[in-house]
Amino acid sequence: MNFELTHIQQSTLDAFKGFVDRRVMPAAESIDEKAEFPRELFKEVSEMGFFGMRYPEEAGGSNMDVVSYSLAVMELARGSLSLAAACTMQSLMATYFLYRLGDDEVRSHFSAALKGEEVGGICMTEPNAGTDLFSLKSHAQVLDDGFVLSGQKTWVTSAPVAHFFTVLAKADKAEGISIFFVPTTLDGVNVGRSIEKLGVKGSVTSEVSFDNVRLPKNYLLGELGDGSKYLREVLAEIRIMTAALAVGVATAAFEDALQYAKEREQFGKPIGKFQAVKMNFAEMSVQLETARHYTLYAAAQSDAGSVEQKDAMIAKLYASECANSICDKASRVLASYGYAMEYPLQRYLRDARFTLIGGGTSEILKIGIGKELGL
Ligand SMILES: Cc1cc2nc3c(=O)[nH]c(=O)nc-3n(C[C@H](O)[C@H](O)[C@H](O)COP(=O)(O)OP(=O)(O)OC[C@H]3O[C@@H](n4cnc5c(N)ncnc54)[C@H](O)[C@@H]3O)c2cc1C
Repeated sequence: MNFELTHIQQSTLDAFKGFVDRRVMPAAESIDEKAEFPRELFKEVSEMGFFGMRYPEEAGGSNMDVVSYSLAVMELARGSLSLAAACTMQSLMATYFLYRLGDDEVRSHFSAALKGEEVGGICMTEPNAGTDLFSLKSHAQVLDDGFVLSGQKTWVTSAPVAHFFTVLAKADKAEGISIFFVPTTLDGVNVGRSIEKLGVKGSVTSEVSFDNVRLPKNYLLGELGDGSKYLREVLAEIRIMTAALAVGVATAAFEDALQYAKEREQFGKPIGKFQAVKMNFAEMSVQLETARHYTLYAAAQSDAGSVEQKDAMIAKLYASECANSICDKASRVLASYGYAMEYPLQRYLRDARFTLIGGGTSEILKIGIGKELGL
């Protein structure tokens, strides 16, 4: 890859690459098998400053650019998409609104989250409101001194281990969606059953219900009904981050297959010497390099303050589709060993499916890109 990196971007990449090779790669299989939140590695990632990369120094962060952040995400996802999914949730969606809109009390939880002392989650999806987020039914009754929150959420990443949630609900007296800070210790907050998943198993996910939860006034983040405006502020970055997750898992699959093609011999020579296998690698390489470059281009546009939603959607759509195609092709290279549970390729295949969903499904991104083209 010859995307021109600054000194800081290169040293960020090197630091995360070293960490992932040394600590994450050896643990990835066990994270998947146990299907438990990877607490120890999560703490180590926080010690590397990952959770604060995108926040200013005065807030406890390191004010890093989106390119550096994306490179770190790609590396974490190369090691374990489970770990990377849990860590990106903590570094972006679970903490952004606390930092951006919270008062001192709320921001104290933000600070604890940057240090990995508290875990956060975001509650948007409901049983009957997925892509159609604005049809959500969670409701906040407005009182003189605060709110009463009720509703049912699902697919909440990190919920079983969370200390707080950012919750999207509709309040009376406001048309749109409102955003609330909700500590999990409050009466009426119930974390339900964990959802068993095909992949990213170590990024634990649960249903959550809010049963008449009393919230003080300062737990409303921003203005009543302005939630979608705040969500839009961070949407492009969420999509670039998801693209980076996809590039990371695709890189792992590609590298494993390449190694295998050089070592596995059939008909007296390494299988990589056969033209059909070479062509498979050429296609994978084109996909991987293009996805990586477009993701970093979108990240650089974001750093320049000129990212368009279309760039972020293209990056996410292309990278996630490529990741799934690369995992499929890599699996063919390993043939029966790509089908064996003792080889990591089956994990990459299962994990990569997640990148087709988080940050908007491919169908929704195509519709969004079409709209941006004026259609
Ligand atoms: C591992 C994982 C972790 C997650 N973590 C979180 C989390 O932390 N917090 C959270 O709130 N949510 C989370 N989600 C939920 C995720 O955001 C939703 O799954 C996503 O928004 C899609 O919603 P849905 O699954 O209900 O699909 P649906 O919206 O029901 O869509 C089903 C299908 O219909 C298509 N479709 C829908 N509408 C249209 C349309 N208008 N035009 C064309 N096609 C359409 C979709 O593309 C899709 O193919 C997570 C999901 C997963 C898998």
